[in-house]
Amino acid sequence: MSFVPPTADLMLALRTVGGLDSMSEQDAETIIAEAGRFAAEQLAPLSRAGDTIGVTYANGTVTTVPGWRNAYRMWCEAGWSSVNGPADFGGQDLPMVMTVACAELWNAANLSFALSPLLTNGAIEAIAAHATPELKAHYLPKMIAGTWTGTMNLTEPQSGSDLSGLRCRAERAGDGTYRVSGTKIYITYGEHDCSENIIHLVLARLSDAPPGTRGISLFLVPKFLPDGRRNDLRCSAIEHKLGLHGSPTCTMIYGDGGGATGWLIGEENRGLTCMFTMMNNARLLVGVQGVGVAERATQMAFAYARERKQGRAVGRSEGLSAIIEHPDVKRMLLEMRSKTIAARLLCMATAAAMDGARHAEAALLTPLAKAFSTDIAVEVASLAVQVHGGMGYIEEAGAAQLLRDARILPIYEGTNGIQAADLVVRKIRLDGGAALGALLLSCTHELEAVSDAKAVHLLATLKSCCHMLLQVAENRALFCSTQVLRALSMLVAAAHMRKAASMAGDTPEGIAMRSNADFIVHACLVGEVARCEALLAMPEHGPDMVS
Ligand SMILES: Cc1cc2nc3c(=O)[nH]c(=O)nc-3n(C[C@H](O)[C@H](O)[C@H](O)COP(=O)(O)OP(=O)(O)OC[C@H]3O[C@@H](n4cnc5c(N)ncnc54)[C@H](O)[C@@H]3O)c2cc1C
Repeated sequence: MSFVPPTADLMLALRTVGGLDSMSEQDAETIIAEAGRFAAEQLAPLSRAGDTIGVTYANGTVTTVPGWRNAYRMWCEAGWSSVNGPADFGGQDLPMVMTVACAELWNAANLSFALSPLLTNGAIEAIAAHATPELKAHYLPKMIAGTWTGTMNLTEPQSGSDLSGLRCRAERAGDGTYRVSGTKIYITYGEHDCSENIIHLVLARLSDAPPGTRGISLFLVPKFLPDGRRNDLRCSAIEHKLGLHGSPTCTMIYGDGGGATGWLIGEENRGLTCMFTMMNNARLLVGVQGVGVAERATQMAFAYARERKQGRAVGRSEGLSAIIEHPDVKRMLLEMRSKTIAARLLCMATAAAMDGARHAEAALLTPLAKAFSTDIAVEVASLAVQVHGGMGYIEEAGAAQLLRDARILPIYEGTNGIQAADLVVRKIRLDGGAALGALLLSCTHELEAVSDAKAVHLLATLKSCCHMLLQVAENRALFCSTQVLRALSMLVAAAHMRKAASMAGDTPEGIAMRSNADFIVHACLVGEVARCEALLAMPEHGPDMVS
């Protein structure tokens, strides 16, 4: 099914959350329209082949599916790789809200394709923020132009969510460089044929480093060294996975022949801090992957529901009805669209907080944007399968691919469980709870402005849940963490949806947004807040009942 770029929805989201200070709405709309055209015409048609043919591996090389390389070249030539790169190194330095808008379009059109730019973007940020001027001058221009791509190498077989057990080693070579060795697993686009060089950012441990996460350093390890020689690293295999067949997930071996040459980024033993510079943006952008998948799944389901005829809808006197006329199908479609819009606004609001350098707000919103948007992506993709009936389970329809592709999103870039823990252990305590207080206050203002008494009441209940969360033992807070994250995300999204609806007024967009906001408040938020209360009120042994 063809992809229709949701340009108007993206523009409404941009207007709602602000963040366009540095550019005109007209320019933003032109960029989004162009990105949408590229996504629909060049990337969407390749998504199916990405799934059915998939990447192939032979003797250390990875071959992407036919058409992929060309699409990547065209994407770079059109300037899309440089959207948010720093201007000093050839980037366009557009605000994060524009990166988010464009990224949604790439992800909706072709999730496997969009992964490489996401990781390259993260690597660019870490280099720009922490590397030496020489490294920046050598690597950033080509990475921003897309001629070279980037990767993030954190995961090892024994070390996933918990990076304290990393074993990858680094030794000082005596000339300012390092020799990196060890095995990394699940490295996205660790090897491929789309770019001239691949710049790996690798977390490793110096032999004299302290144990745990305080002894981890970050290294830049290029596939090809500045003198053109091949570095001592290789891809030993690619994974066969549930989805994302167009994106190579590689096992990378560093230092088989004595050590891969690497350059330190930031200071020794401060690698995690450097990595976390890019992690926030990367987390948000994974949330945006969720929005993209949800948008595509929603479009697919609407198209099928308008076309497929079964049964006779209540009130119809003759003939078969399109399934979109059946109330239960309408409910599914409403849920899909409402959750997609909720996630879009949440991600856009996070980006706007980043653009406005409202650091505490951005830090608080990032785990919400990542976890909520990726969870709803799986739910919406699953609903798309349901709307298609049996056809949804058959691969040709495309809905099954979206569900398979989406399933990784709640897992990588910090599982959603880790996001929830980050929220209740750290983020809601930021500035002694001031960031959360300010967020809830601004939601209250938005909801009161449109006289949404129900949502204001739910907000007050959720606020007391958060207050309780600060009082209870950490284990109990963690037990409720995913639920609190879910309810808080819905609440923030509902406030933005109400604002968007009132900004759009009585236009068709405004009327639709009102019903989407109603669905989120009355059919979702009510239940989510009640579940928070219920979990918090469980008897003390609650968290210990699994053994
Ligand atoms: C397709 C794909 C692409 C990937 N790309 C990359 C990449 O480019 N670079 C890279 O470095 N890695 C990558 N990864 C790895 C990915 O980030 C990890 O799989 C992820 O971080 C989880 O680690 P794990 O698999 O070891 O799971 P585990 O850490 O073993 O987690 C298993 C379960 O336990 C839960 N859990 C673990 N610890 C806690 C805790 N403290 N609190 C609460 N719950 C907890 C988790 O939430 C999860 O549900 C990729 C993985 C896949 C499948």
